[in-house]
Amino acid sequence: MILDGIEIAEKIGDYVQKKVAELKNSVVPSLTCVVSSNDKSTRVYLNSIKKNCDKFGINYAERSVNAEDILSEIDKLNADRNVHGIMIMHPLPKEIDEFKVLSSVNPEKDVEGRTPQNLGMLLMGRPYFAPCTAQAVLEMLKYYEIQLRGKEVTIVGRSTTVGKPLSLLLLSEDATVTVCHSKTKDLVDKVKNADVVIAAVGKPKMFDASWFKDGEIVIDVGINVVDGKIVGDVDFDSVSKKVSVSKVPGGVGNVTSAILMRNVVNVAEMMCRR
Ligand code: NAP
Repeated sequence: MILDGIEIAEKIGDYVQKKVAELKNSVVPSLTCVVSSNDKSTRVYLNSIKKNCDKFGINYAERSVNAEDILSEIDKLNADRNVHGIMIMHPLPKEIDEFKVLSSVNPEKDVEGRTPQNLGMLLMGRPYFAPCTAQAVLEMLKYYEIQLRGKEVTIVGRSTTVGKPLSLLLLSEDATVTVCHSKTKDLVDKVKNADVVIAAVGKPKMFDASWFKDGEIVIDVGINVVDGKIVGDVDFDSVSKKVSVSKVPGGVGNVTSAILMRNVVNVAEMMCRR
């Protein structure tokens, strides 16, 4: 089985479109990106977010900031009833304290689920938003009706945006979760002995078919550019002949983008009802 993210993203997109239409007479959902660097990959990401917002009729805005004004700009966005989602673009320049910045974002507008408040609430099982990519992996597994209760899930990668929050989401689904990283011993065994493997490493085609046994489910979170082409952490061509695996591109990334749009319209709706 090939786990396709495009189909799921389209379904989420239908929901977003419906919500934008329902809210039309009261509010236009809006997302503001806070930008503190001219990084080329940040620009590529911003363009793709804008394109997605335009597609759904969500207002898109950018605020260029520096170390002096970033916190006051975030305060303004927090207070502005016409701003529903706030995204802090990464990487932040060295002189900006990431923890302080993320802590200053209103967790109700934290559509990426990155603030310490939302991550803490995720630990307690009740975040406003979980990190979009972690949420996307869970939604893919659910869409394809992959049972998680009592299953062994190995996550390779322990970042705050993917591996760690995903481990909490999967624990809430009664999976038994192993989180691996660059210092993990016997990684091959931990991957091979799992029922479900999540690859979130950032190493192109690191996992070929020899890492997996028949019947495993593999979700590839990796997005790597090789010779101008996007490839995952999993060698799709060999692995897809042996086990069920998600596509890259056309997998987790598409679902992640759609979830971001859904989060923005959900905040708009919530604020509208107040
Ligand atoms: P990250 O912050 O760089 O974390 C990578 C993780 O992989 C770290 O925990 C690291 O271990 C671990 N790792 C690195 N080499 C390893 C190895 N040889 N064996 C085992 N573990 C190893 O990356 P990230 O932000 O989580 O992103 C991971 C990948 O997902 C990237 O390709 C990124 O582009 C992609 N991504 C995709 C989406 C999406 O929407 N699809 C969203 C975010 C990220 P240590 O902690 O020990 O260093």
